[in-house]
Amino acid sequence: MDEANPASAYGETWYAATMVDAPLRPPLGAEVDAEVCVIGGGLAGLTVARELALGGWSVVLLEAGRIAARASGRSAGFVLPGFAASPDSIIARVGFDRAKDLWTLAQSGLDYVRNIVRQEKMPGVDPQDGWLYVSKTDNGDEFTRLAALVGEFGGEIEGWPTDRVRAVLRSERYFHAIHYPRAISIHPLNYALGLAAAAERVGVRIYENTPALSMDPAGVRKRIVTPHGRLRANFIVLCGNLQIAGLMPQIAETLIPITTYVITTAKLGSGLGEAVGYQGAISDSDLADSHYRIVDGDRLMWSGRATTWPGNPGRYAGALAADIGKTYPQLGKIAVEYAWSGTLGNPLHRMPQIGELIPGVWLASGFGGHGLNTTAMAGNLIARGIADDDPSWKLFSPFELVWAGGKYGRALAQVYYWTRRLGDALAERRARIGEFSLGRSARYSNGGDAADHAVDAAAPPETAFDAMAPIAEGDLPGTDTAPPSVQIETGAMELRAPAAEAEITPGDETPPPMILVANRHDEEEKSGDADV
Ligand SMILES: Cc1cc2nc3c(=O)[nH]c(=O)nc-3n(C[C@H](O)[C@H](O)[C@H](O)COP(=O)(O)OP(=O)(O)OC[C@H]3O[C@@H](n4cnc5c(N)ncnc54)[C@H](O)[C@@H]3O)c2cc1C
Repeated sequence: MDEANPASAYGETWYAATMVDAPLRPPLGAEVDAEVCVIGGGLAGLTVARELALGGWSVVLLEAGRIAARASGRSAGFVLPGFAASPDSIIARVGFDRAKDLWTLAQSGLDYVRNIVRQEKMPGVDPQDGWLYVSKTDNGDEFTRLAALVGEFGGEIEGWPTDRVRAVLRSERYFHAIHYPRAISIHPLNYALGLAAAAERVGVRIYENTPALSMDPAGVRKRIVTPHGRLRANFIVLCGNLQIAGLMPQIAETLIPITTYVITTAKLGSGLGEAVGYQGAISDSDLADSHYRIVDGDRLMWSGRATTWPGNPGRYAGALAADIGKTYPQLGKIAVEYAWSGTLGNPLHRMPQIGELIPGVWLASGFGGHGLNTTAMAGNLIARGIADDDPSWKLFSPFELVWAGGKYGRALAQVYYWTRRLGDALAERRARIGEFSLGRSARYSNGGDAADHAVDAAAPPETAFDAMAPIAEGDLPGTDTAPPSVQIETGAMELRAPAAEAEITPGDETPPPMILVANRHDEEEKSGDADV
């Protein structure tokens, strides 16, 4: 970190350029006692810390770097209902009634974010209403079925026909959409910093640049060692996401690291509002691709192009700008002012890992690309579990800690992304050719000569492989960063048995079957030659 500029820890992001004041908290430099030690200062850790302190508990939060400098301060900022896992896959695992209860909890996480931003009058968070989930194919039946299912879960949604979608999003790539009016989008870094300030106001002691190096979780008073200080606490809450690898590699190994790339354009003027006439969040894929929104009045923030290795964001900026150009050619050449990446941790089942691992040691992890509502939900569930013995967190028990397959798992997940992108591109191409044969596309053309746009619409994408991210030299899998070489005292915590439910239901969005990989891991363990 640049000492003269503490904000440099937040990277070259549009969020860092527009962040509110973030006072640098000193590292822990003494022996400290608390009732609860929260490890990790992302959204999960900040929420659980604040909620417990609100109830009168003495809470210390340790953050290895700066507050929310990892995934939480780099996200696209969509606060959505539901989970990363599809409703169908949740029902397949736990049945309809329990899936509905889970959905209600996820909705409570979304409501929590919306309410706390207002109650705490958080500056610079700028919530915008609504999420439009748009189809690039004419698959009305599938969308209607999804909308009905979410409706049965109690979700508030509207189906938008193609005419209505194209009246606000002037793109011939788009067909119908599901509109979620209660979703919001926010400045996630300012939200996390607002949450940290709110936590401190109710008594949470936050130490930055303080990695928890080892812990002894045995007994009532648990011990945590940091570089310059020690802590004793009755409860430990692990909220370290992928970076927990330095302390608890077993937890990190249940997550597939997915790096996603985000750009923010230069100011585009009034033409942006004419092309994108919707102020909320927009997604046109259920992969980590093409999620975008207008920020700062007339800039476009666009994210996507996920990889299972940490690539250089500069190399993906062009591909993301090309995605914008393909969707909104009327915007012309796009100048990109900010490009960054962030890495999220995806469990195989794509559901959060929430629960008490051993008495007094809790875990909040695995929020994947759907963490803004689910970290809020998890923070509240764990706080209630600790303070009131509330068993609601047990609804997540079916979603256990399953080894994610190490480098094999990452490779399979990447192949899955490529295959899905290819499938999506082919489906989109079929839809557009079908539409052109019906002579419909010219009707929706906007600006310039309608006939020209009709011709554009008919032209299939150059090749279906356009949908894939270019793999830049040096960005290949295998350039993985090694976990920090700190002393590890893992104590009594163990990975739970690989879950039998790692099997995949047909049509599930989960990455390819990992049960084989899990078995392989068992064999490797037996031979004492475990990978990773
Ligand atoms: C590019 C990108 C876009 C995304 N977009 C969205 C979106 O639009 N909507 C959405 O819902 N979700 C989105 N997500 C996902 C969401 O950001 C994450 O799921 C969520 O922020 C995870 O929060 P967390 O607190 O679990 O982890 P993190 O934010 O990663 O925080 C964990 C913290 O723990 C600290 N830590 C780890 N180990 C230790 C230790 N031993 N000692 C002390 N500290 C430690 C780390 O330094 C880190 O700061 C996105 C993610 C990325 C990367």
